[in-house]
Amino acid sequence: MQENTFNQRILDWHTQYGRKHLPWQIDKNLYKTWVSEIMLQQTQVVTVIPYFKKFMRIFPNISYLANAPLDEVLHLWTGLGYYARARNLHKAAIFIRDHHHGNFPHEFNEVIALSGIGRSTAGAILSLTLGQKHAILDGNVKRVLTRHQSIQGWTGERKVENRLWTLAEKLLPPQKSDVFNQAMMDMGAMVCTRSKPKCDICPIASDCSGLHSGSPTDFPTSKTKKKIPIRQAIMLIVCTSDNKKVQLIQRPDTGIWGGLWCFPEFENIDKCLEFIHNKGIKHYTKHEFTMFRHTFSHFHFDITPILIRVTPDTNLQVMEDPDGLWYNLHLSQKIGLASATKKILTTVNITLEKDK
Ligand code: SF4
Repeated sequence: MQENTFNQRILDWHTQYGRKHLPWQIDKNLYKTWVSEIMLQQTQVVTVIPYFKKFMRIFPNISYLANAPLDEVLHLWTGLGYYARARNLHKAAIFIRDHHHGNFPHEFNEVIALSGIGRSTAGAILSLTLGQKHAILDGNVKRVLTRHQSIQGWTGERKVENRLWTLAEKLLPPQKSDVFNQAMMDMGAMVCTRSKPKCDICPIASDCSGLHSGSPTDFPTSKTKKKIPIRQAIMLIVCTSDNKKVQLIQRPDTGIWGGLWCFPEFENIDKCLEFIHNKGIKHYTKHEFTMFRHTFSHFHFDITPILIRVTPDTNLQVMEDPDGLWYNLHLSQKIGLASATKKILTTVNITLEKDK
């Protein structure tokens, strides 16, 4: 491959077509680039934009973020998924406040030491904001490189990843490496797209080995899919007799939906009913909703929500839980809701409305 030609074609393409007006590119600083890079992990630009704008309105700088309760951060993240990103962002902001006087560090080793920041993200933050010369290797860049070079093997494998890092470093131009990095990400997002690459308008098509092989979408090689297990659970929705509030429980910080608010969960219906009985709740109506599936990377979660509407004579103090709250169905509260909780809340609201 002729590296210089490759670089120049990518840079020229960016001059004409690259994205230069995304919200985090305007008046950019390390904080904005950091937040955007974290949000953009596993999430598309179009989805990220409204979340990013709202995040910046509420947390305009590191100290606002560091001083906010985690619940408020998770609340703003609700719907973006991969909540560990939000927890790490908050943790890193606290670390920066306490150990870097509230200023985002400029040294690569200090940046990569922050929670939730790996080699590519650290390189992207410092390159895109300060123009430092670091290679990046996010999903978009990996796709362009594996296709252009016909690189076989799953990119999560150490050997393949090392090869890609070497290539990414080698391709970095001596000047304008920040523009080059942005251009490579844009190329992956706008031209060399996942399922339908636009090879007819691609600036590096003439020497793209993947294109010339006849099947560019064979790259990057997919991870061999393992059959993932299925877990089942009952989620209990205890609703007050006036149909206004339901009980939610905050999950522990680790594990699925860490730190988010969910309905109490039971292995099966018998355990759920036993729990209600043991709480002394005797008079209620029960409605079982249709089971739905939520898929995590490592298992399917089949959830059956059960709505219990208690009668006015029920003393709900028996339900009090140190990790619980009564969520008002008619008011938005600043807490992080798991996506399954949001989905169930919508269904419950529709059902209660119909029964009015
Ligand atoms: S020619 Fe096609 S496959 Fe190759 S880099 Fe360009 S868009 Fe991707």
